[in-house]
Amino acid sequence: MSRDVNNKYWDKELETMPREELEKKQLEDLKEIVQFAYDHAPYYKRSFDAAGVKPSDIKTLKDIQKFPFIDKRTQRDTQGVGSFLGELCAVPEEDVVFISTSSGSTGVPTMSPFTKKDFDEFQETESRWFWQVGMRPSDRYVHALNFSLYVGGPDVIGAQNLGALCIWGGTLPSERLLYVLKTYQPTVIWTSPSYAWQLGEKALKSGIDPKKDLNIKKIIVAGELGGSIEATRHAIEELWGAEVYDFYGLSDIFGACAAMCEAKNGLHIAENHILVETVDIHTGEVLEPGQVGELVFTTLRKHARPLIRFRTGDIGWIDTTPCSCGRTHGRIHINGRKDDMFIVSAVNVFPSDIEAVIRDLHGITGEYLIRVFEKDFTCKYSVEIEKNSDNPASDDAVAAEVSAALKARIGVKPAQVVVHPDGGLNTRSEHKSKRIIDERNLSYDI
Ligand SMILES: [Zn+2]
Repeated sequence: MSRDVNNKYWDKELETMPREELEKKQLEDLKEIVQFAYDHAPYYKRSFDAAGVKPSDIKTLKDIQKFPFIDKRTQRDTQGVGSFLGELCAVPEEDVVFISTSSGSTGVPTMSPFTKKDFDEFQETESRWFWQVGMRPSDRYVHALNFSLYVGGPDVIGAQNLGALCIWGGTLPSERLLYVLKTYQPTVIWTSPSYAWQLGEKALKSGIDPKKDLNIKKIIVAGELGGSIEATRHAIEELWGAEVYDFYGLSDIFGACAAMCEAKNGLHIAENHILVETVDIHTGEVLEPGQVGELVFTTLRKHARPLIRFRTGDIGWIDTTPCSCGRTHGRIHINGRKDDMFIVSAVNVFPSDIEAVIRDLHGITGEYLIRVFEKDFTCKYSVEIEKNSDNPASDDAVAAEVSAALKARIGVKPAQVVVHPDGGLNTRSEHKSKRIIDERNLSYDI
């Protein structure tokens, strides 16, 4: 590896490219990929024709707005139709070297195919993110993500290409993972934020102080929102004595499409690969940068299965203003999944808003469970929390404090706050915690 370890950029020219130039490059790739999709993927031929649009309509980046959306349902409906990979796929199966699949937590798992070039560019992007958070060839890295079918699994190759010593941990039982951390003294780990928290707590309980006995300097988190919630990030940083960086991936595109830099103010998205739009969740109308809506991605360079105007189901906003790190690629801020949002008294509530409040309060453990339910045809929510064993306040006083803090931050107070003793909530599951129980019968159009 000939890169200068003191250079803060993996690819300075690309990462700090003036936006005008970056957008010129995006436009060239957009024209090419839309034409390629139209010529080779039966679905796009049909849907563009039905919408009365053609690839040559693209003269500027804004012209993408004329094209129809696709979403998860489009993927499911076209999968396996006409060929093994289906009608969104634009290359013959022999050109595909890798497929990942989504977890299927919201329906049938969908396959994401990669050509050799798609895969290499995916790993080049992952190397760039690792370098961005400070990983260097001298680092020892534990990739503690699921390797089975999951698109985040192969990201470890990006770290190897960077030159780090990589340990393919996967989803090890925590005792085994702690053994790895203690024995091999790795410096960087990637896991989910809730698991980073649980693992740190487990270490302490088994007599290992993550700050003193382990050598983790950086924790990469993804898969849940915690890494972008300041209070959660700080709590994990404090527990481990390490820096926490949030990554954002999408099973349909890359293991990580966006990553925090040292400024920790949003996540830089690889705009050389992804054209980002934000649209109104009701009308699909395109919003301006800075306005909150559903993120819509167009992949600019993936040929196995191009995604043209893919509605991600994630709510957030994009910031294209300059970042103090010098990178010119825009930053995305994610508020949550569209599916997780609920509306109470006309206020949009995201579980991440509730988490930010809970993690910021003293005297409680930070564990929580949200119940969303209906009463008198109105949507309500309640929150269950755990009181620290050394907190002398009464349960009623703690409940009142939590309720007032939620009202102040979110605008609507919970119907109830239930206080449990430390360890009373069964939310400490490994890797990805289930913290919302939706008991509503009616479907709500958001
Ligand atoms: Zn930055």
